[in-house]
Amino acid sequence: MFSGILINKTDAGQTVEVAKIDESQLPEGNVTVDVDCSTLNYKDGLAITGSSPVVRKFPMVPGIDFAGVVSESSHPDWKRGDRVVLNGWGVGEGHWGGLAQKARLNGDWLIALPKAFTSRQAMAIGTAGYTAALCVDALVNYGIKPDQGEILVTGATGGVGSVAVLLLVKAGFTVVAATGKASEESYLKDLGASSIIDRATLAEKGKPLQKERWAGVVDAVGSHTLVNACAQTRYCGAVAACGLAQGADFPSTVMPFILRGVALLGVDSVMAPKSRRLQAWNRLAKDLDVSALEAVIAREISLAEAIPAASELLQGKIRGRLVVDVNK
Ligand code: NDP
Repeated sequence: MFSGILINKTDAGQTVEVAKIDESQLPEGNVTVDVDCSTLNYKDGLAITGSSPVVRKFPMVPGIDFAGVVSESSHPDWKRGDRVVLNGWGVGEGHWGGLAQKARLNGDWLIALPKAFTSRQAMAIGTAGYTAALCVDALVNYGIKPDQGEILVTGATGGVGSVAVLLLVKAGFTVVAATGKASEESYLKDLGASSIIDRATLAEKGKPLQKERWAGVVDAVGSHTLVNACAQTRYCGAVAACGLAQGADFPSTVMPFILRGVALLGVDSVMAPKSRRLQAWNRLAKDLDVSALEAVIAREISLAEAIPAASELLQGKIRGRLVVDVNK
């Protein structure tokens, strides 16, 4: 038996509890992992609270990522004792996820945990941090360079935003952080942001073309914020869009794209091919200072504490990352 968060759906609605689960109930897969740590991402918040239908099968163990040690494997790439990390692939949505002491899944989905990180640190990064790295890779691979101007990061005190600030600063960029939490100015400046703007200045409908400011943007927010960010991006700049904290809508015009050559770069972490994952995790291993990582850990929580924390996360009350020690 092992412990895990179990989401169920009954006629009365969704139930969530920390349950004792028999190993025989684990889903099919050629690798079994003893999970050390998981984390709470925005999507896990949606799954646990049931506020958006991200769970496609019940009962479900949520948790779109984890780090741990292989305990059994019939997959050619993995053997008992290997340290691994998992992000996405529909885990925690359609296949049992990481908010449990054990996981069984397809070994093709795993990558080796970079030696630079412990399981706890990998989950302080989590899918949010790995997505931040995908966004930075998207801008850099597109050709955006530090001497071209400032980079805007939206949702800056969140998981994606915090790690994006750290990675961009390390890569030499000047970063402006947009946040709704004026009280977190010193947190963002400690991460390396050069200045802060109030997210309210980006949140409302604006003109299709505005004064050019950003060489690039990492946007975790969507909706009017993404539209305004595109409208303020400089000629031939690029915007990496990965999130929808404000909304999934994109009430824009084509003007920034056809008159300023602005590129909108979509970033998906869930089905990203292995080559992109490895590039992102290599960037994290190379550029993320482990002591800086401690600053983005909001707190370390147990499986039971993860349930109420999911609501707090969705209300935007959490600064940085929540690491879940599944054995606590
Ligand atoms: P968090 O909840 O940690 O951070 C989101 C941040 O967005 C908040 O901290 C807040 O920052 C800001 N925010 C919240 N509500 C609003 C609002 N109404 N308007 C404007 N800003 C708001 O989430 P993550 O960082 O983990 O994820 C961010 C987004 O990225 C989510 O939408 C998530 O679903 C998406 N995502 C996408 C992935 C992909 O594969 N494409 C992978 C991972 C995440 P502040 O207070 O500083 O303004």
